Amino acid sequence: MSQIAGCDTCKFYEPEEEQCRRNAPLPSDSGHVAIWPHVSEDDWCGEYTRRPANPVFGT
Ligand code: SF4
Repeated sequence: MSQIAGCDTCKFYEPEEEQCRRNAPLPSDSGHVAIWPHVSEDDWCGEYTRRPANPVFGT
């Protein structure tokens, strides 16, 4: 059984707001604010990049 890595271990995942910050935020439908895409921990995409174990030193 394979195990697929998800947004929760991606370096672009922002867990407090459950957002993907791979790219700059986009205008919302209201046109008054820009937003990042909302994703779930078990989502994933082709831009997945594993979060470094130690983000300070990138190891
Ligand atoms: S896997 Fe894709 S959608 Fe999920 S946080 Fe990473 S870049 Fe964003």
